[in-house]
Parts: sequence; structure tokens; C-alpha cells
Amino acid sequence: MINLHPFINLHTHRKPRLSQEHVVRNGYLLPLDILKNLPYAVSCGLHPWLISNNHFEQLNHLEDLINNVPNICALGECGLDRVKGPAMEIQLEAFKIQIQLANHYRKTLILHLVKTYSDFLAISKKIQVPCIVHGFKGNATEANQLIQSGASLSFGPRLLNDLKTQEIFTQIPLNKVYLETDTKPIMIDVVYNKAAALKNLDLVVVRETIWNNFARDFNQ
Ligand SMILES: [Zn+2]
Repeated sequence: MINLHPFINLHTHRKPRLSQEHVVRNGYLLPLDILKNLPYAVSCGLHPWLISNNHFEQLNHLEDLINNVPNICALGECGLDRVKGPAMEIQLEAFKIQIQLANHYRKTLILHLVKTYSDFLAISKKIQVPCIVHGFKGNATEANQLIQSGASLSFGPRLLNDLKTQEIFTQIPLNKVYLETDTKPIMIDVVYNKAAALKNLDLVVVRETIWNNFARDFNQ
């Protein structure tokens, strides 16, 4: 019998929807007592859109979560966004503090980067833990630069119907790839099936490779 590896859903805002699904759910906005008792992995981070006037307080709260929620496996999503959110200066300050927290607590980083790949590359050397750019939607050059900086790239619902994303996906080595559903009400196996078809690989191989990526990047 073939040993089928679980579907890793690298970034979702929802509960697992398949019995073979292994999620990293963004739980930053959930109350502590709920967060603590979820029977699956969560990530917590200060999303650039959520940065308030008092981001030091928000970052203290985040550090509390890291110390008190045993199932936090990653810090994120956090990062930089030129389309939405406060001034870049403030976003950079909050992001750099989160990089320090990730380094200190040895948490993998899940990144939200919108029109800021070059800003990120300028500071990526500060990162001492694995990092994954979620919802990647850049071009081939940006994909290569991010991978060379050490990051992996996670692909979500756009993989199903965006031709440009599909084209770039076919060129990226599978050992730098993750798949996700993010906020969309789709099933993770649909994204995996599409990924396997685009790579012209058996689904079993895609499941195994992404499982191995997860074991490598999340200290399983
Ligand atoms: Zn998200």
C-alpha cells in the first residue's frame, strides 16, 4: 500500500475541511482560550493591514501568544504591503520586530508581501529561520530572487485559473513550493490536483514532496 502523505495547507483562515488535511491556520484574531485548544497547528502574526497606532502593544500581545499557545508553529502572516496598510516606515518597523521574534523563538515565517519583493530582499539577510512567501503573485525574476534569498513560495487559489501564475509555477522547483487555500472556500485537494497536473507529476509525488518541505521547514 502506498503511504499517502497529508495535504499540507500552508496558509488558511479556516479549520481543516478534509480528514487528510494538515493546516497552518492563521489564528492571530482568535481569543487565547480558543487558540490554545485547537487540535491543529496555527500561525500568529501582525498582518500589515492590522497595524494600529500602538503597534508595540500589538507586538507584545503577539509575543504573549508565542509564549502561551503551544500549537503555534509559525509567525505570520506578517510582512509589507504597498497597496493597503499604514506608511511603509511603520510597516517596516513592525516587520523587523517580527523577524527578531521569529529568530529568537525559532518560528518559521509566513510572509504577506504585496508589491514589496525588493523591499523584502533588502532585509531578508536578517532572517535566520525558514520563510515562506504566501500567495505568491510576482514574475519569474522575482520568484528566482526570492528563492535565492532562501524563501519558499506558496501558491493558492490563483493557481486554478491565472495563466501567469500557472506558467511561473511550472518553473519553480517543487522542493521550494507550498500550497494553500488562504481565505477562499475551496478545498486544498483541488489546489493539489491542479499543481500535479501543471507539473505533470503524480499527485502522490506532490503530496510527498510538500510533506518533506514541511518537515524540513517546521522542525517536525
Ligand atoms: Zn491570509
